[in-house]
Amino acid sequence: MADGSGECNIKVVCRFRPLNDSEEKAGSKFIVKFPSTEDSVSIGGKTYMFDKVFSPKANQEKVYNDSAKAIVKDVLGGYNGTIFAYGQTSSGKTHTMEGVLADSLYMGIIPRIVNDIFNYIYSMDEAIEFHIKVSYFEIYLDKIRDLLDVSKVNLSVHEDKNRCTYVKGATERFVTCPEEVMEVIDEGKSNRHIAVTNMNEHSSRSHSVFLINVKQENQENQKKLTGKLYLVDLAGSEKVSKTGAEGMVLDEAKNINKSLSALGNVISALADGNKSHIPYRDSKLTRILQESLGGNSRTTIIICCSPASFNEMETKSTLEFGRRAKTIKNVVIVNEELTAEEWKRRYEREREKVSKLRAQLQRAEQELMRWRGGESVPADEQSGLTRDLDTSTLSLSESGQAHHLSNMYNTGVVSSDPLTNEERMKFEEERTRLYAQLDEKDDEIDKFSQQIEKLKEQIVDQEELFNTGRRDNDLLQADLTRIQQDNESLKEEVKEVLQALEELAVNYDQKSQEYEAKSREVETLGEDLTAKSTALNSRDSELQQLKEQTTHQKRRYMEMVTNLMKDLAEVGIVLGANQNTSFIGELKLSGDASKLDDEFTVARLYVSKMKSEVKALTTRTVQLEAYQTASHKKMETAERELTECKLLISQYEAKMTSLQESIRDAENKRRLMEETVDTLNEECAKLKAAEEMHQVTSIEKEKEKDSVEQMKNALEHQIEKHRENHQKQLATLRDEIADKQAMIDQFKDGNQKLTLALERLQQDYDRLKTEENEKSVKLQELTLLNEKCDQAKQDLKGLEETVAKELQSLFNLRKLFVEDFKNRFKKIVVGEEPDDAANSGGSLVQKQKISFLENNLEQLTKVHKQLVRDNAELRCELPKLEKRLRTTMERVKTLESALKEAKESAMKDRKRYQHEVDRIKEAVRQKNLARRGHVAQIAKPIRAGGGPIVFRNQNIQQK
Ligand code: ADP
Ligand code: MG
Repeated sequence: MADGSGECNIKVVCRFRPLNDSEEKAGSKFIVKFPSTEDSVSIGGKTYMFDKVFSPKANQEKVYNDSAKAIVKDVLGGYNGTIFAYGQTSSGKTHTMEGVLADSLYMGIIPRIVNDIFNYIYSMDEAIEFHIKVSYFEIYLDKIRDLLDVSKVNLSVHEDKNRCTYVKGATERFVTCPEEVMEVIDEGKSNRHIAVTNMNEHSSRSHSVFLINVKQENQENQKKLTGKLYLVDLAGSEKVSKTGAEGMVLDEAKNINKSLSALGNVISALADGNKSHIPYRDSKLTRILQESLGGNSRTTIIICCSPASFNEMETKSTLEFGRRAKTIKNVVIVNEELTAEEWKRRYEREREKVSKLRAQLQRAEQELMRWRGGESVPADEQSGLTRDLDTSTLSLSESGQAHHLSNMYNTGVVSSDPLTNEERMKFEEERTRLYAQLDEKDDEIDKFSQQIEKLKEQIVDQEELFNTGRRDNDLLQADLTRIQQDNESLKEEVKEVLQALEELAVNYDQKSQEYEAKSREVETLGEDLTAKSTALNSRDSELQQLKEQTTHQKRRYMEMVTNLMKDLAEVGIVLGANQNTSFIGELKLSGDASKLDDEFTVARLYVSKMKSEVKALTTRTVQLEAYQTASHKKMETAERELTECKLLISQYEAKMTSLQESIRDAENKRRLMEETVDTLNEECAKLKAAEEMHQVTSIEKEKEKDSVEQMKNALEHQIEKHRENHQKQLATLRDEIADKQAMIDQFKDGNQKLTLALERLQQDYDRLKTEENEKSVKLQELTLLNEKCDQAKQDLKGLEETVAKELQSLFNLRKLFVEDFKNRFKKIVVGEEPDDAANSGGSLVQKQKISFLENNLEQLTKVHKQLVRDNAELRCELPKLEKRLRTTMERVKTLESALKEAKESAMKDRKRYQHEVDRIKEAVRQKNLARRGHVAQIAKPIRAGGGPIVFRNQNIQQK
């Protein structure tokens, strides 16, 4: 049936794939058997017959050659063609239809067909021009989505004037070579991938339709042929559970099965043969395939099956589907646009046929009359009406009407219903009207869905923008919070530092107070000390007196003792003289003590002298410091005055310059005036000369004399007037000049005064400066002196201590001496005198006093030492504290500067982000604008025989 119009069965081929890995792992058995005839397959004891059965061994090329190759010729011969693959998911539909596109061994039917179409074109007559365009779309949930334009998501199906269905608005790409077709397929596939998340699930539930439309025109006889080829990879034929996939509402789940069950219904209806209505309109898929199933198309169904025992049920139902489909008959005709010549010829033929039929009718009517007249007509005279009618219908079918009739039959126009023809016509009209309405509604839906898609895209864009904006905002916010946190922490640090500073200040205050208190104590103690030392002095003097008394008494005793000794010596020479020598040593000792006393007093004197000097020095320094501050103040005021004076001077100078300018102006004016006076004088002289001349000629012109006189008078008068005016002006100008001069003098005086004052101030300033320098030098000296003083004080203290120690030892010695003396005296003198006891009692009291004072002195010195040490410690601590203060201040400063920098950088970042956001917005806007523009589609004609010129050029370019 490959050539010539007429009825033909749908071709059904069956392909079994090999067991796949998972089936083998699961231990599935290979349950199908292939008899050697290649057109049958048996499963479970039942044998199915098809046009062709491919075992798993059949490779892609064999499948193509045996099932699809013929269709190329048909399509290029002006017939419609359809190949679709049916079968459960992973049964090999996509493998069969597409295969591995770029692999010459594993490529499927689509790439092979495309290559063959072009090869066939290249081998055809050069006079034929081809226009090949392709479309690619998918049907998912009964919505047609254009794979070449993602914005078209719900295309509608319409009928053209020949009542052929087509997808309205589907993108059509004109192609000139197989590579271009492959590019289109790749584009469609990538678009399909972009739109979905789970490609496997999606592809098993959607039908993909690739449409090749071939139009050809013979340039010589204007014969035009068109052929459409649908290549369909159907969704998996297995039942999707009622609940559908995850996250899918019930309606969607129902829709998944809808198109395939509609396909099953259509095929069953067609297979039954006597059904009046075929439900093509039940789904978009069946509507697109309307021509392919029972219409004008050469159709091949490839049923794909798994051989595994696990899939037995599905395989059986697939085979059943194929068996039913095999019975469907299509009526194919060439899609030809006839030329006028052709139409004329056909018209002639039809007219001939009509006249023949009329003659037949007449003959039949005559026969009828004869029959009605009771005459029996012999067989050889009967008209061959039935045979003739048969031929006429055949010829009708030839002219394309048969298809229409069969359509009418299918759609129930011609049937044996009890309805009258009129009613039927009415219903038919109603139906077409309703279908037209349906199509309109479809169009509207399409439009709306496209709008929705556009809006969705816009929303996505906006969301993206929003998201980027939000992200930027978040980043900025984070930055801001970070900066704020930094700020907070810095603030806290600053606060801490300030607190530390305050503490330090408080500590410092406390310490200074303590120091003051201590120094006050030291002073009081020093006063005490002086008091004590005066007391000590008085005691010393008392002691001295006592000593003198004692020495006096000693002497007396000595005398007495010597007398006694003499007496005794005289009395008892027998007693030795040893004791005498020891006594003399004791006396020597007492002499040493007196020497020490002397030294002590001298030292004391020195100390007091130094103290008074130190005091004088400190008062002097204090005075000098006060004086220095005062002089500083004075200097400052002087400087201020100086600057003021400078200002004044500059003002006056400016005034002076302006005045000088005005003077110059006046000078100029004066010069001008003088010049005018000169000219006027000249004029005057001239006039006088003229007058003289007149006087000379007056004799001759005595008649005119009067008039001349008058003129002269008038002139003189005028001149007088002028002169007066000039004089007045001169006078005023001179006055002005005088005024100005006076003013200038005044200003000059003022200026001089001010400059003098300035000089004086400068001198004062210099003097003060030198004074200050001197003072500072003095101050330094004084501080040096002060330090020396301190040193001296400390030395003094050391001295005092040594003196005190020596004093102590002295006292000890004295005590020893007194005791020794007492003992000796007791030993030597037997008879005691009464005033001796009183003497010893007085010395005892004195001794007690002395020891008490000594104790006091010791304590005081201790306290003094302690105080001095404290003071030194505090002094040591002070620079440390100052250092800390300075470092904290520095830290605060660095922190502040860091904060400032951070703020600045944040501002900069913010500006940069703003700029970036603006730029992105602009770019997005431009993109949106660009997207809206439509690109015109240009038909690229390709010529048969030796390939298209365009294509070759392109190929060369590509190479
Ligand atoms: P479907 O499109 O029906 O869901 P596929 O065509 O994607 O199934 O096939 C599923 C797997 O089986 C793919 O990996 C494919 O390569 C493999 N396959 C299908 N048919 C054959 C075959 N005849 N020979 C070898 N492998 C096949
Ligand atoms: Mg697939």
